[in-house]
Amino acid sequence: MAVRKVVHIPDPVLRKKAHRIQRFDDPKLQALIDDMVETMLEAPGVGLAAPQVNVSQRLIVVRLPDDEHSREEYGEDAGVLHIVLNPKIIRSSREMVDGVEACLSIPGIYGTVSRHEAITVRGQDRHGKPLSIKARGWLARVFQHEIDHLDGVLFIDRASEIWRYEEDAAGETVETALDESAERPA
Ligand code: ZN
Repeated sequence: MAVRKVVHIPDPVLRKKAHRIQRFDDPKLQALIDDMVETMLEAPGVGLAAPQVNVSQRLIVVRLPDDEHSREEYGEDAGVLHIVLNPKIIRSSREMVDGVEACLSIPGIYGTVSRHEAITVRGQDRHGKPLSIKARGWLARVFQHEIDHLDGVLFIDRASEIWRYEEDAAGETVETALDESAERPA
């Protein structure tokens, strides 16, 4: 396994529609999956989509943290590793919730994004076997964010508000709102 380089905007791979995976017994695909898990954990991040490591294929990995706080907050979702190939949202709640998102491909930028509170994701496991996952809350948000990546959509496209955190010369964190008229870092 190896940590792969995460690409940042404006890399064009992040804007492409990724290809459906057809062959599962491919050693390169299996190595990619292992590398993506390692890259996500090392970052650390809660999700990663293949285009973020410069591979335009429909594959995501998701894992909420499993520290004590996360176990309280996310219950049995904490620390569960999800590997989903060709994921598709087949059902989504009418209820929408606002939450703050960030992305390993857009360093330093945060935004408020409205997402479905609950979804059902259908896809395949790493061997091509069909799977279905019901997710709510933050897990549902992470799935929606990662599946968007497979269609070239980034959270900044959907955010109602975007801001940047930076450290000034004195090491203080400065928050700057990025105004709607400013060019978005897409
Ligand atoms: Zn992202």
